[in-house]
Amino acid sequence: MSAVRDHIERIRDRITMACDRAGRNPAELRLLLATKTVNAADIREAFFAGQTLIGENKMQEVKEKFEALKDVPHETHFIGHLQTNKIKDMIRYGVSCIQSLDRPGLAAKLQDRLSEVEKNMDVLIQVNTSGEASKFGVSPEQAADLVRYVAGFDRLHIRGLMTIGLFDADAERVKACFQRLRHIRDEIMLQDIPGVSMKELSMGMSNDLELAIAAGATIVRVGTAIFGKRQYPDSYYWNENK
Ligand SMILES: *Cc1c(COP(=O)(O)O)cnc(C)c1O
Repeated sequence: MSAVRDHIERIRDRITMACDRAGRNPAELRLLLATKTVNAADIREAFFAGQTLIGENKMQEVKEKFEALKDVPHETHFIGHLQTNKIKDMIRYGVSCIQSLDRPGLAAKLQDRLSEVEKNMDVLIQVNTSGEASKFGVSPEQAADLVRYVAGFDRLHIRGLMTIGLFDADAERVKACFQRLRHIRDEIMLQDIPGVSMKELSMGMSNDLELAIAAGATIVRVGTAIFGKRQYPDSYYWNENK
């Protein structure tokens, strides 16, 4: 068995066990493969092991892998910091959901471009639940306002929220981030905003997916535990200055 296939099985087991403990049905959970820096051959390996959803952080990587992956049915979400000059490519290369929508200006530009080409896009609103300046995302206090604003754009379909938990050895502090996202979701649901679904909670990664599942995650995003360590530190992807 290939390493990738083997690692995916182990992640599936972790997801199943976490669901058991939380009294949840594993069928409610989607596994997104975080494929930044991962080559197309390894991603294909994961597809042949039954996976269908990948997430990329940079448009350049979506483009580079597009040809090599297009014969295998799959879905690509965008999970990185999105610059407005990449919107055209995003639509052209078939990204089906932007999980990292975090500011009004980006939403307005997306709406303009999508209208021009008469397409729609699913989005999640990224919330910065850890308060760390190094991470993108709207503040928890402003999340509901951003949802209401984005809901005004007919080309953008809000499906829920996304967050990156705090990196901390203290599980309680990590858990607090995930619970916070869930509370924000619940509060937004109470407002019953037309056209807004709060079905998805995208949270949990290699090191903290159990905590996220206990707090209600519907999508967990896993990279390292499946594809191994990356060459670049994550700050390379999460920090605007790089
Ligand atoms: C890299 C990345 C992940 C996966 O992180 P791992 O610790 O490698 O599992 C999840 N979400 C986002 C937004 C990422 O950039």
